[in-house]
Amino acid sequence: MMRMTVLASGSKGNSTVISSSRTRVLVDAGLSCRELLRRMALAGEDPSTLDAILITHEHQDHIAGLGVLARRLRIPVFFTEPTHRAWVRMLTPRTTMSYAKWLDHVQREKEARAQSVASTPAHDPAVEAASIAHISAEAAALDATLNPTAVIAVDEDAEDPDAALCDPETPQAARQKADPTHLPAVEYFHAGANFCIGDIAITPFTIPHDAADPCGFVFESEGIRMALATDLGYMPPNVKAALKRIDVLLLESNHDLEMLKDGPYPWSVKQRVLSRVGHLSNHATAEFLQKDYDGTAAWIVLGHLSESNNAPELARLAAEQALANHPTLLGNRILLADQATPLEPICL
Ligand SMILES: [Zn+2]
Ligand SMILES: [Zn+2]
Repeated sequence: MMRMTVLASGSKGNSTVISSSRTRVLVDAGLSCRELLRRMALAGEDPSTLDAILITHEHQDHIAGLGVLARRLRIPVFFTEPTHRAWVRMLTPRTTMSYAKWLDHVQREKEARAQSVASTPAHDPAVEAASIAHISAEAAALDATLNPTAVIAVDEDAEDPDAALCDPETPQAARQKADPTHLPAVEYFHAGANFCIGDIAITPFTIPHDAADPCGFVFESEGIRMALATDLGYMPPNVKAALKRIDVLLLESNHDLEMLKDGPYPWSVKQRVLSRVGHLSNHATAEFLQKDYDGTAAWIVLGHLSESNNAPELARLAAEQALANHPTLLGNRILLADQATPLEPICL
């Protein structure tokens, strides 16, 4: 027996429970701890039986409740090492200053150095080198804070009003709370290298997306195979190869191309979504289903639908039309994962 329960899917939060008869894994924790617990209760999934959390990539819609939930349930988190590092960087507070303030700071440092040189008879190159190194390090740090791609430090516990509820206040918990990057245990995996959690065999595969080391997964137990592939700019050969002989396939169908082009996003964001490291359009998903999909899935779940740039009926229509061109694939059933409510568990 295997079961997939999509708790949430979309740019405001993603999380899915994958279970065998003995093991349960939560893939991504992109909602607050409290909301994840509420949705698990709604869907009939018992959080206390989860064995691990598995992370696809470090974007906020996949990790928002991660630290609080993992500490609350005291379960290990599986990442790739670059994804774990990126997550830690996101949560590590940085000193930020405006560019004007930095220039002022550099000017004052220069003046202080000039004064000390004037008052020091002997020139000391070591002191000067150390000072230059100090300024370069500062410039690098500032560059990181000014860089639009740099991630803003987030104090998730402070942001989550339910942190206290999720993380009971013992002295140890209080200490750990001071460190939002604390996790009960961290396990690393590598894309392309199979590993097991309990009796679920997991194959992570690289997906093209603008994150540190993003992955999709194939889960296999008792001869049943489920796969999860969202957040990818296009369908590269390695993903097509990974998605063979799948019984339940959660696949991205993010946007309708026309809606995205005419939609409310700024041009830079439209470019990002459309890029090779953005998200799959209904058209790209349909093209995969028509040309490369082997037709083995009893269920295809369309997920990560954009609320601004897609309509569920458009995503469904595109996928249905692609499958209709294959008379042998009419047995495939299509479901649409939702942002606001959990999907009925899919059991095989
Ligand atoms: Zn996402
Ligand atoms: Zn993403």
